[in-house]
Amino acid sequence: MMINITFVFGTRPEFIKLAKVIEKLKNNRKFSITIISSGQQDDLLKAFKDSKLNSINLKIKKFNNTEMFISNFLVAFDMILKKKKVDYLFVQGDTSTVYASSLYGFLNKIPIIHLEAGLRTNDIHKPFPEEFYRQNVSKIASIHLAQTNSGKRNLIKEGIKSNKIFVVGNPGIDYLLDGYTTKISKKLESKNNILITMHRREAIDGSLRKFIYNLKVFLRTNPEYSVNWPVHSNPNILNQIKESFKSKPKEKLKINFLKPLDYFEFNKYLSKAEYLITDSGGVQEEGAYLGKKLLIARDVTEREDIIRLKLGMLIKADGSKLFDRIQYYKKNSIDLKNTNIWRNYQGRGKSSLKINNLLTKILC
Ligand code: UDP
Repeated sequence: MMINITFVFGTRPEFIKLAKVIEKLKNNRKFSITIISSGQQDDLLKAFKDSKLNSINLKIKKFNNTEMFISNFLVAFDMILKKKKVDYLFVQGDTSTVYASSLYGFLNKIPIIHLEAGLRTNDIHKPFPEEFYRQNVSKIASIHLAQTNSGKRNLIKEGIKSNKIFVVGNPGIDYLLDGYTTKISKKLESKNNILITMHRREAIDGSLRKFIYNLKVFLRTNPEYSVNWPVHSNPNILNQIKESFKSKPKEKLKINFLKPLDYFEFNKYLSKAEYLITDSGGVQEEGAYLGKKLLIARDVTEREDIIRLKLGMLIKADGSKLFDRIQYYKKNSIDLKNTNIWRNYQGRGKSSLKINNLLTKILC
């Protein structure tokens, strides 16, 4: 009998990191695949032509109310899963969808396969609520697929048995390399061009206004820099940005605000950028892969390898280290040796194949 693996996702990064894994496992005759999307970020996923994946969409909206989202999700998920044979639930990352579906799996004794396991800041409030989610999903999961060895070490420290942890790289990079229309080339880079993405709760709940203040001061004193900023669809981010730019509407700063971009458009802006300022996990990984000058707008990051390899630097969530770090990058270039180490860690586009082979070996 075929083994059923039910994938659950809801947000843009989950989709990007699962798409190639699902593609591989769908073509594997040992498995039957079910795909359930929660609806958590349907607005952002609309831009992805391939995002439907024949999934069952629960259409649960988040509306910035996580408690309601989780409870509504559990009810809808139960109605679907009751009617299905599910041998494994496969989740990726640290979102509300991942946490809620893992909790459901735990309560119903369905084993969980967790991709991107072992990322840690060890501060339960940063990022909030993701660090709490991922720590707890690790307690529940049966198979832990870590991106790098540092994730594996973190899990072992928490008492997870090493024979349940597998280092598989990052299938988000498989998606990047498959769809990267413009090829990875330094030639496309435009000097002094900055790309910004911001969406974390820490920013929304406090630091975004200070971040914008620091960015404005930087752009006033360094007018040769220009910014592209695809603004996340979260209305709290949108409103804070509008408020922060109300006071001097005529001021001519070179900031181009954009709607959330579809993946291929985003890649074009990514190719063009010399600097990347982001609080996103996926954008950090992609930026380091492409050798961009990466400024992480957070107080801490769980991507510890990126810091260790000097492929990115923290500028704090309020951007207070922006000046210093750009000065550093003006004098120091990124070591290509380290970029190559990171590319190896990420699996160079073969992570989904590795996961397919691994699951065939350990589950069948
Ligand atoms: N991304 C995109 N369009 C955008 C901004 C980001 O397609 O306008 C992609 C980006 O390439 C990366 C992913 O979205 O793969 C990151 O998602 P997000 O920042 O929402 O979540 P995180 O990675 O922080 O969980």
